[in-house]
Amino acid sequence: MNLRAVKGMKDILPDEISKWHRLESAFRQRVEGYGFREARFPIVEPTALFVRSIGETTDIVEKEMYTFTDRGDKSLTLRPEGTASSVRAFVQHSVQAREPVTKWYYVGPMYRRERPAKGRYRQFYQAGIEVFGDPGPFIDAEVIDMVVGVISTLGITEVEVLVNSIGGPEARENYRVALLAYLAPYRAELCADCQRRVDANPLRVLDCKVPRCAEIAADAPSILKHLTDDDRAHFDGLQETLTILGTPYRVDGSLVRGLDYYTRTLFEVLGKGEGLGAQNALLGGGRYDQMVKSFGGPDTPAIGFAMGLERLLMAMPESEPDSHVDVFIVAAQAGVRGEATLLGRELRDAGLRVESDLRGGSLKSQLRRADKINTRIAMILGEEEVEEGVVQLKDLQNKTQDKVPRAEAAQRVHALLSE
Ligand code: AMP
Repeated sequence: MNLRAVKGMKDILPDEISKWHRLESAFRQRVEGYGFREARFPIVEPTALFVRSIGETTDIVEKEMYTFTDRGDKSLTLRPEGTASSVRAFVQHSVQAREPVTKWYYVGPMYRRERPAKGRYRQFYQAGIEVFGDPGPFIDAEVIDMVVGVISTLGITEVEVLVNSIGGPEARENYRVALLAYLAPYRAELCADCQRRVDANPLRVLDCKVPRCAEIAADAPSILKHLTDDDRAHFDGLQETLTILGTPYRVDGSLVRGLDYYTRTLFEVLGKGEGLGAQNALLGGGRYDQMVKSFGGPDTPAIGFAMGLERLLMAMPESEPDSHVDVFIVAAQAGVRGEATLLGRELRDAGLRVESDLRGGSLKSQLRRADKINTRIAMILGEEEVEEGVVQLKDLQNKTQDKVPRAEAAQRVHALLSE
């Protein structure tokens, strides 16, 4: 039987995990510094949740969702993104009744049946945030600056921040009319998907990756010319605040992004370094002021973003391999292996990460193993040491060895590690 992971879904093995931990903790630490708190939502949701929020004519809903009927004949879908669930939970738990502004973050797997490629998977991880209750534009600039901060603490330096505004419903409607007029003569040249979608949502055409559609879209009128005065003031406020923060950005009037629910502010951060290839969008986000209301909640403005963890990992510089273990215990004779397990527990109780190999191999082979996993310190315990109440503390990096009272061993290791 040839049992393999589903195409486009990857195993993450322990050798890779420290980079993931570094990324996730940089994200958590940064966003918690801005008052965000973690929320966790189900991975499976009613299909209608995504169809209604992401939009019927989007790529995700039309061709990428993992949708199935459960044994109770309900249509369920593996979540393709996190915002729909956040909004559902916000409304379901009447969170607005408890606090005027809500700041949530989440980290977890998402599912889209896209064509797998470098940086594009069918199960991938996103870390995202949502802010409910603040109409902006200051918070818009603050979350953009916050995520730029996350990226820079990861050592990713070559990025470009794109911002745009697609206005509110009034601007969107005016723009729809203008865009339809522009697209009319090109209709027959658009790809089959765009021809089908143009009436339902012509903005989709601007997001199409088919070369001819992209060419046509490049000369389309800009949505920025159709903003209302309020939309314009909002967008100006966002840009002024980014300037105060010193966050470099570029206005890209063609940025519309692939989901229907956005209003006003849109942004994307692109990775410019090598190694990312064509999938260089590190994260995307925007404002979705109508969504809470359309889910049956109160009129609540909101903004959020989601970043793709695999892409950030690809853009992060390599770092020194570190060990998952502080101390390796070596039993000098087979007879002290029981005592070695006790020593291990003593050290772990003192907060150290301890490994040993008590299968009965030679002293040399145990030391080789300690070296292989990059352990800094080996602690050798033999019959004499047990008798005397000491251990041999071997610093594998500085190549020194010391006899240390067993009661002080953990303390000595902590001191060495913090040097
Ligand atoms: P989106 O939810 O489409 O706005 O995507 C937000 C971010 O998630 C993107 O900028 C990517 O970094 C990441 N992402 C989206 N789709 C995929 C995928 N299929 N594989 C890996 N990362 C993805």
